[in-house]
Amino acid sequence: MASDVDDCLFCKIVRGEIPAAIVYQDDYVIAFDDITPQAPVHTLIIPRTHYADMNDDIPAESLAALYSAVPRVAQVKGIAESGYRTIVNTGPDANQTVLHLHVHVIGGRSLAHGMVIFGGE
Ligand code: 5GP
Ligand code: ZN
Repeated sequence: MASDVDDCLFCKIVRGEIPAAIVYQDDYVIAFDDITPQAPVHTLIIPRTHYADMNDDIPAESLAALYSAVPRVAQVKGIAESGYRTIVNTGPDANQTVLHLHVHVIGGRSLAHGMVIFGGE
């Protein structure tokens, strides 16, 4: 029976089975551009290890590795000085669509002051 990891889109990117525009990588994380960017810069950072979301009992060192990559990605993408927003969607109310933990790094233009836009229903 196929496991979550076999079927997971982002695990397939980690294994090199589907292509991605890689921005940064180290022993713990891979960062690649979002396929449907919502800003001039929209990069995703994922742990190489599969965790479904923030509720998935993630070891502190894995979270440290994930967030340590944020300023590195910002530097590579040229938005360290201009600024950026980091977002982690978790679960249905946040509209998480890919169940492999990921940090969105979004920037390259001025973003709205408010962070929360309510959806339908
Ligand atoms: P979520 O909604 O789960 O927080 O974010 C998932 C993100 O993954 C979305 O912004 C979506 O555009 C992106 N995404 C979905 N499939 C792919 C893919 O195959 N390649 C890349 N690079 N991004 C993807
Ligand atoms: Zn995965």
